[in-house]
Amino acid sequence: MSTTLFMESITNHLEKLRRHFDSGITLAYRFRKEQLNKLKQSILNHEQDLYDALYADLKKSPEETWVTETGMVLAELNAAIKHLHRWMEPEQIATNLLNLPSGSRLMKEPLGVVLIIAPWNYPFQLLINPLIGAIAAGNCVALKPSEFASATDAVMKTIIEDVFQKEYILYVQGDGASVIPAMMNNFRFDHVFYTGSTAVGKIIYKMAAEKLVPVTLELGGKSPCIVESDADINVAARRIAMTKFNNAGQMCVAPDYILVHESKKDAFITKMKDTLRQFFGDKPEDSYNYGKIINERQFDRITNYLSQGTIAYGGRTDKQKLFIEPTLLTNVPEGSSVMKDEIFGPVLPIAGFTTSDEAKAIINKNPNPLAFYVFTASKKKEKEWLETVPFGGGCVNNASWHLTNHHLPFGGRGFSGIGNYHGKYSFETFSHKKAIMKTPTWFDPNIKYPPLKGKLKLFKWVIR
Ligand code: NAD
Repeated sequence: MSTTLFMESITNHLEKLRRHFDSGITLAYRFRKEQLNKLKQSILNHEQDLYDALYADLKKSPEETWVTETGMVLAELNAAIKHLHRWMEPEQIATNLLNLPSGSRLMKEPLGVVLIIAPWNYPFQLLINPLIGAIAAGNCVALKPSEFASATDAVMKTIIEDVFQKEYILYVQGDGASVIPAMMNNFRFDHVFYTGSTAVGKIIYKMAAEKLVPVTLELGGKSPCIVESDADINVAARRIAMTKFNNAGQMCVAPDYILVHESKKDAFITKMKDTLRQFFGDKPEDSYNYGKIINERQFDRITNYLSQGTIAYGGRTDKQKLFIEPTLLTNVPEGSSVMKDEIFGPVLPIAGFTTSDEAKAIINKNPNPLAFYVFTASKKKEKEWLETVPFGGGCVNNASWHLTNHHLPFGGRGFSGIGNYHGKYSFETFSHKKAIMKTPTWFDPNIKYPPLKGKLKLFKWVIR
């Protein structure tokens, strides 16, 4: 299709979303609940297709797919179906003395037509989880998946188009750099929810600003992991290895680098090596538990990091299989790109520290990480780390699992993002809270009205 034809066709589709939203059909509780149930059924109908697709795109096992993609989405769906009625109810709010006997409340109304843009690393979860919040909140939605996880993209298209009409949920495929500007420049969305790199996040933010469209930005960054002198090294090594090398390190909240107290450094590295061997064997390329890199571009980018330090473990690669071995790097110079860029792959730099100030100086070179982890047995150290490092969300004696608890909001701050979602927070992200005051007519004292002269003392008493 020529660019002009594509633009005409996409704009027509987006205008249909607008008309559908304006018809008011998405407002009712029953409608929203029915759509959430339809989505759930469609996902269950295609469960095996999703396992096959995620294996083809990223070599994820069905077990890994359940924990990080389908199971997580279904849990989010079940929570939304269960709590939707309560979420939709207006919230009763206190009224101040000045306005008594008025009553105050917050109504939750849908934003309208929203755009959801997703990356390729958890291609299913990162597209469908925000969709659940958008449907629950009563919006019409345009979905833009990543073009790089093509097998999962094809299954998701079927899941959506099997149960939803295009004027309600529109599934748009294609190259983000051309498709997304075509949509955002020719149509005014009521909200854009974007997950992906910080670089593209800036492009989205600028396009949205042109039309004053509010955004949620779920970005990346370098998430530090501290291992203190009093940490349980056995537990730390297992939990860090598990999340850092899940999906071959292509995880936004993976520990990007480790800062371990000098007194525990050697012991920790030895434990990490043992753990990696236990988890993935001597040939991780053949391991059921180990994934692959998404494409050659990412493979080339990540393999560049391998020469930037001493390889303490791993380091083998196979471009044909898009395989990079789980790798531990030591003696990494501070100014090297592996300590500047988000690694987003199975390479883990490990550096020692002696004082917390020294460690914080390294962290502050990449401020506002999406996540932060600290392993320590001391409540005092835990408090100090959590209170002095600004970050999106994180864990104590764990890594990455905070994002699987849908009762917690998930999102970054500053360079790692704007806004949050999951569970009730997704519903709120895709709703406008309308503030309402209702005043009875039976009480209308003259004191509020002119003449005002002489009422200052009374006003000072009431308004304070
Ligand atoms: P990306 O920024 O390349 O792509 C994300 C989306 O943006 C895709 O749908 C793509 O089609 C679109 N896109 C790409 N170029 C565009 C352009 N020029 N204009 C408009 N749209 C464009 O990101 P990615 O490589 O798919 O994902 C990796 C990044 O995402 C990492 O930085 C990672 O940390 C981040 N991430 C963040 C989270 C989170 O929840 N915060 C989750 C996963 C990934």
